[in-house]
Amino acid sequence: MIVKPPPELSSQFHEQAMRRERPVPFIAEAPACWLASFDPLKRLCKGKWEAFHFFGKQELRNCPELRGLTPEELMLIEWDARNAGPGCVEHHRRFDNLADAGPGSALVVPRSSLPADVEEFIAERGIPCLAERRFPLC
Ligand SMILES: [Zn+2]
Repeated sequence: MIVKPPPELSSQFHEQAMRRERPVPFIAEAPACWLASFDPLKRLCKGKWEAFHFFGKQELRNCPELRGLTPEELMLIEWDARNAGPGCVEHHRRFDNLADAGPGSALVVPRSSLPADVEEFIAERGIPCLAERRFPLC
């Protein structure tokens, strides 16, 4: 069962995502989303910006460390504002692997690039193993 977030929680999530500082704010003089500098094919941002989840619903639901939580508890973790970042449609899809363009095209974010509050989220929510799988140490 999937529990939808109450509207105030999803709007808080979105606002926090858009306020987040981006590692490379501009590429080729155009505003770059948080994910843009991690694109191995250097694709430029495309489409409107939206809030992405550093850790998605499915990942959290399948995470062994979180087994036994209620759907409400999982929803609160998923929509924790520290789990939010600003991504254009293009990079958000690639980050979530929905638009893979072949070998070597996956958008991979190294662990060392995660913002401090995302690390805090990982520690507080007890998901270090999930973080290791999602964000390589290289
Ligand atoms: Zn982008």
